[in-house]
Amino acid sequence: MAMIAFLPGDGVGPEVADAAKRVLEAAAKKFSLTLDFKDCFFGGAAIDACGDPFPSETKEACLGADAIFLGAIGGPKWDKAKRRPEAGLLEMRKALGVYANLRPVSVAGGMEHLSPLREARVKGVDMLIVRELTGGMYFGDRTEGDDRATDECLYTKEEVTRVARIAFEAARKRKGRVASVDKANVLATSRLWRNAVNELHAAEYKDVELSHMLVDAMAMKLIQAPAEYDVILTENLFGDILSDEASVLSGSIGLAPSASLGDGTRGLFEPIHGSAPDIAGQGKANPAGAIMSAAMLLRYSLNEGAAADAIEAAVSKALASGRGTGDIGGEDNTASFTDAVVELI
Ligand code: ATP
Ligand code: MG
Repeated sequence: MAMIAFLPGDGVGPEVADAAKRVLEAAAKKFSLTLDFKDCFFGGAAIDACGDPFPSETKEACLGADAIFLGAIGGPKWDKAKRRPEAGLLEMRKALGVYANLRPVSVAGGMEHLSPLREARVKGVDMLIVRELTGGMYFGDRTEGDDRATDECLYTKEEVTRVARIAFEAARKRKGRVASVDKANVLATSRLWRNAVNELHAAEYKDVELSHMLVDAMAMKLIQAPAEYDVILTENLFGDILSDEASVLSGSIGLAPSASLGDGTRGLFEPIHGSAPDIAGQGKANPAGAIMSAAMLLRYSLNEGAAADAIEAAVSKALASGRGTGDIGGEDNTASFTDAVVELI
């Protein structure tokens, strides 16, 4: 039996989380899995319930779980809270030790027209961005004055090696290619990054095709020729920017899933979109990103690849047959699109 800490969160979070749960239950039935969901308060909902975005009961449930599923958190209601919902999320990532953020970006056949890029350009796009999540400039020392400010960018070889390993392992299960992104012509941390990636590759992953790209060139190539890439590996700041850039390729933020992984199999899974307060409570949020995140949960934390494949195939098929919510020009609401996916499973 697998225990899933289930954190619906705020805004559209509970709406898309409920959709993901229904789909997980359908997959569990089909593949004879036993899933035990433990519902927990998190984010703004937790502030309202007990004054803390990441209460100790939630933390305990997450640390004891096989996987954590999160809807979305935050919203204007908690902008002035002493500890904001987002602070709870940073604390949770740290508590779970999830140092690699995985964001697949794909454009399903027949769905090319949703992209803001020309259809020929996004045909066949199927990439996985692996972003380092707990190091680099976001976690270095800062000094802040009126005339002078600094942000330290620090990486250790070990931090690079462990996230590179996740990228190489993922590539082995995909098309076998990793493009590592850095700015090694300028930055010392990037030269360390490149050396550590090369060293791990030579020692253990010679079967994977490795290339190196400068981040400025990659920003351009993601728009020019996105279908050329399989796994893209990069550090925290570059990954933040490139993954948002890449998420545009598929046409709606509501379609994109993510996973955050560390050592071991326990991971944190959430759609990349936020709590979307402008459409919350109306039943029209696109649940596809949350549903695809649930598929990633099955694949990465529970090692149920076949069930994950079945969910992804059902979503692709539903989309290809013209089903979908308003953000992608469809006529479904959250529940009816979810019904279609459950039916297909
Ligand atoms: P965060 O700071 O948490 O990333 P945000 O304010 O940057 O949040 P979102 O909450 O993701 O952004 O919302 C951005 C826009 O995308 C909004 O107009 C929102 O309605 C839309 N959006 C977000 N998620 C969905 C979804 N699942 N389905 C449809 N539209 C969505
Ligand atoms: Mg945002």
